[in-house]
Amino acid sequence: MINLDRRQILKWLKTDDSAELEMLWKAADETRHINVGDEIHLRGLIELSNFCCRSCAYCGINQTNANIEFYRMSKEDVVECIRKIHDFGYGTVVFQSGEDFGITAEWMSDIIKYVKNNTNLAVTLSLGERRYDELKMWKESGADRYLLRFETSDLELYRRIHSALPCADPKRDRIAIIQELKKLGYETGSGVMVGIPGQTYETLAQDIWLFAELELDMIGIGPYIPHPDTPLGREYQKMQQLPSSSPSLSPANQVPNTELMTYKTIALTRLLCPKTNIPSTTALATMNKVSGRGLGLMRGANIIMPNVTQTKYRQKYTIYPNKASTHDNAEISDKHIQELIKSIGRKKGTGQGSSRKY
Ligand code: SAH
Repeated sequence: MINLDRRQILKWLKTDDSAELEMLWKAADETRHINVGDEIHLRGLIELSNFCCRSCAYCGINQTNANIEFYRMSKEDVVECIRKIHDFGYGTVVFQSGEDFGITAEWMSDIIKYVKNNTNLAVTLSLGERRYDELKMWKESGADRYLLRFETSDLELYRRIHSALPCADPKRDRIAIIQELKKLGYETGSGVMVGIPGQTYETLAQDIWLFAELELDMIGIGPYIPHPDTPLGREYQKMQQLPSSSPSLSPANQVPNTELMTYKTIALTRLLCPKTNIPSTTALATMNKVSGRGLGLMRGANIIMPNVTQTKYRQKYTIYPNKASTHDNAEISDKHIQELIKSIGRKKGTGQGSSRKY
């Protein structure tokens, strides 16, 4: 049994002792088995649009990136994806996009109602920092869950990498919106990137602690993957070229954006938030295309979000480069995931796979 306080979390994040890490993986896997069982719930991901009104320094669909070909899916194409999710027997549809106000509240509401009237799927939204009246309208239209990662609990780092909108209320930050979502009755998810330039071990430990304090239903954790057409991607490249002693860009306390660090973060999150739904993320699968997703599932995760977006669109949703399954179609993504579930001796989830905390 591993007991965790903040100091212990920090200690685990810093350890590279393989025997100790084996203990951590085992404890996380047992905790997952006891609290959320052996089912892996599948959430079909539809990447609705890559338009975004922000210019977040980490994200490739940052509006200042001149190399993006923009798209917004047609209703017909969205309906085709929803049908596939239903036919594949997944429990949830996840709608994700840049912060695109071309996706109007009414348009999204109609889609949510379509899902609710024609399928038994749960609806998850991941559309960024939308207005309170929009979040309320979508909940009333039948949406069940909302994902909004706080990205990092270090406010200074957050402000540096996440652009504020000039007209926005500075007090309505992502944490405040998470509280709104909870009050509105959404199952609420958040998460972070691991290894953002400037992220320290202390910050990452604080992130994990904050997951528990926020009592989240879902927690998404993925490695930061530098995108060369973004300010942070360029900063990362510079950081790699500098001698490790350089104080400004490469503090000794910098968290590496590695697979291992991501597994540690997932495992510690499982121990601290035993009943939460935790995906093995596409970013992890991108870092290690062969076994990243499987190892995430064996070290605390219990969810996969297979991409069902038509190939012509998914190639343009480049939040980071070389994203796993960018060139596949929904059938191939589904086949790989079914094989993976079997190969690690787990079961495909039945039903909507709602949060057990909820
Ligand atoms: N517009 C929505 C959805 C963004 S994409 C929103 O902002 O919530 C979903 C997640 O992808 C983000 O929350 C972020 O954590 C992650 N992401 C973005 N750029 C990334 C990068 N370069 N590397 C790894 N993850 C990234």
